[in-house]
Amino acid sequence: MKELDAFREIAGNPYAYAAQWKKKTGNKIVGYFCSYTIEEIIHAAGALPYRIFGTTEHIIRADAHLQAYCCSLVRGGLEDALAGKLGFLDGTVFPHTCDSIQRLSDIWRLNVGFPFHVDVILPVKLNSASARGYMTDVIRTFRADMEMALSRSIDDAMLAESIRLYNGIRAGIEEIYRMRSADPGIISGSDLYAIVKSAMVMDRRDLSVMLADIIARLKKKSPSKKKYRRLILAGGICTHPDIYPVLEKAGAAVVWDELCTGTRFFEGAVKESGDPVSALAERYAERINCPAKHASVDARGRNLVDIVKQHQAEGVVFLILKFCDPHSFDYPYLKEYLDRENIPSLLLELEEHTPPEGQLATRFESFIEML
Ligand code: SF4
Ligand code: SF4
Repeated sequence: MKELDAFREIAGNPYAYAAQWKKKTGNKIVGYFCSYTIEEIIHAAGALPYRIFGTTEHIIRADAHLQAYCCSLVRGGLEDALAGKLGFLDGTVFPHTCDSIQRLSDIWRLNVGFPFHVDVILPVKLNSASARGYMTDVIRTFRADMEMALSRSIDDAMLAESIRLYNGIRAGIEEIYRMRSADPGIISGSDLYAIVKSAMVMDRRDLSVMLADIIARLKKKSPSKKKYRRLILAGGICTHPDIYPVLEKAGAAVVWDELCTGTRFFEGAVKESGDPVSALAERYAERINCPAKHASVDARGRNLVDIVKQHQAEGVVFLILKFCDPHSFDYPYLKEYLDRENIPSLLLELEEHTPPEGQLATRFESFIEML
């Protein structure tokens, strides 16, 4: 579908897109690394929230600041910042999540030198009596920090408008996910990935229009006759879109996921009535947590099993970046939940480079044969 070309182009070279966007609009761009960043606040202040994915090429400069046993996402992000590739950023926001992002925040502040740097100290434990009130207060402070950093006031009406826009975007992406779950041949995994990645870096108003157009076109498409083995992808951030065509060639399709570059990004609408800050706090506290936060001892396990059942999947591929402690620590317990339900799973631990296609294909083929 040629209308997807714009998404492919943005996802393929988000830095060029951001630099052009800034030149065209004259507006500010705020970088972030984690799905706990309250993007709506940044957007309401008139800036572009920009997710930093980091390089997947050789990491050299960052190694002078971060140990080689940090995940490739934080090392790759720092590498690009030190190499001057993120020069379009006006500042960066670091929510308090995994240890690697927290340590990166200190190193970033001292070495990268963007005009502003904001830490957002969100609660770790999300299910305590005081967590919601604390989360609301932190978001209020973040709003004030953004107002000061971007020299723009954010009133409730602006915030409510951003919330509506984001709810529409998240619902649109979820709709495409649902279409793909019903008919995996309707859009390829790498094209869906390109949409999600673009959604984290591009102008959100343009995105909303483009999403509506793609949804309308997908609805008109004749059903695909192709049958796939149905899989779920689980883990943190996917920086390896090359795995989708390899999986598809092997006869399987990802029909849903549990990723920061996927459902963790779009699940859960924010209430559009009442105090917008409390509504934001509710979404970020209620959403299924990632392993860097604590909400319950079994929420992620139950959620993963539910996803498998709801989408009639036959197995789960865990995609974990090497040295990602939070996801590695959660993996045994998640696998145990799947084993109890006789759901097969495969663990794929990746560094910055995607393994050679032949090697990946062999692993996928033997997993798919076993299903
Ligand atoms: S796994 Fe958690 S800490 Fe890591 S990027 Fe995703 S939301 Fe943030
Ligand atoms: S959650 Fe894992 S992959 Fe994401 S930044 Fe933290 S250590 Fe890296």
